[in-house]
Amino acid sequence: MAQHLKRIDLTRDFEAHRQEYLDAIGRVCGETAFSGGKYADAFDREFAEYVGSRYACGVNNGTSALHCAMLALGVGPGDEVIVPANTYIATAWGVSYTGATPVFADCTADTWEIDPADVAKKITERTKGIIGVHLYGQPFDVSGIQAVAEKNGLFVVEDCAQAHGAKFEGKNVGTLGEMGCFSFYPGKNLYAFGEGGSVTCDKKEYYDHITRLKNQGCDVRYYHDEIGYNYRLEGIQGAVLSVSLRFLPEWTRRRQRISERYLREIQNPRITMQRHPENTTPVYHLFVVTVPDHEDFVRYMAEADVECNMHYPVPCHLQKAYAHLGYREGDCPNAEYLSSHCVTLPLFPEMTDEEAERVIRLCNQYS
Ligand SMILES: *Cc1c(COP(=O)(O)O)cnc(C)c1O
Repeated sequence: MAQHLKRIDLTRDFEAHRQEYLDAIGRVCGETAFSGGKYADAFDREFAEYVGSRYACGVNNGTSALHCAMLALGVGPGDEVIVPANTYIATAWGVSYTGATPVFADCTADTWEIDPADVAKKITERTKGIIGVHLYGQPFDVSGIQAVAEKNGLFVVEDCAQAHGAKFEGKNVGTLGEMGCFSFYPGKNLYAFGEGGSVTCDKKEYYDHITRLKNQGCDVRYYHDEIGYNYRLEGIQGAVLSVSLRFLPEWTRRRQRISERYLREIQNPRITMQRHPENTTPVYHLFVVTVPDHEDFVRYMAEADVECNMHYPVPCHLQKAYAHLGYREGDCPNAEYLSSHCVTLPLFPEMTDEEAERVIRLCNQYS
């Protein structure tokens, strides 16, 4: 009898590198560099170098990264920012926290990424910018979105929470818009032992502003120049992230290898894959497919002791939290189709070839 296979299993990474992680945590404790500080700053420098941006500003999570990016761009009450309907809800929170309104655009029918044509239709006099999401680790159509943005004088911010290391036309995500917002939530391609996030950018003005915002609105201690937040990255998270950043290239290769096998070897007409355009290098945060009856498929896999789940069962525009915006079913048909047909297959770097083969076999036997 095969063992239970989880959708993602983080314990394998910890067991493989236990001593390195514990040593890193021990150093932070020994120096009591707990909030911000030396280890958080060191990680910022390493992460900026990895992404290829001039700056990386560590924050306490990805949601705060998005909030800070919106504040640094001057987004506020009365403004609109276009975000995809098919994303994790936090993309929209960053807009809402400023008092501005997220406006939801549909995804394309095959890449499942934000659709530049639908974005163009959603622009009004109040629109300030667009947050594109490299969803599931697949870069969105950056050129298409940038063309719409330039034509209308809008900013583009990248939500890179699922796409550490992904490339669009050979360039790293996080360097393509005004700012890149990353999350290090456990289970993301690069993750903290708790919460973490980062904003990448090339402009010093953004970096300085976000450094102040995350630090209670002050540059000089006890002098508060604007209303700020407590959004600092913890030292322990910075130290852990510095360790795991060294593993990230290998983790990414492993995600790519397994995903390429899924793409090649899962050959069941009932299972539809995401399209990955030639000019992109995806990092496969989540391996999402669609099936005619996703609840039936998840049950079928569970009976074979393989855990699958769904990303995401409710598109943002139909979430209760945004009921006051007045969206209806049919407003974003591709995102709605996806939410009612998606299944996420097991995928994580430490998955063995045998486990991948088991997933492939089960998918091919599904009827
Ligand atoms: C995880 C995620 C976020 C939020 O990051 P947190 O660190 O959990 O706050 C934002 N956007 C997307 C697309 C995400 O997947």
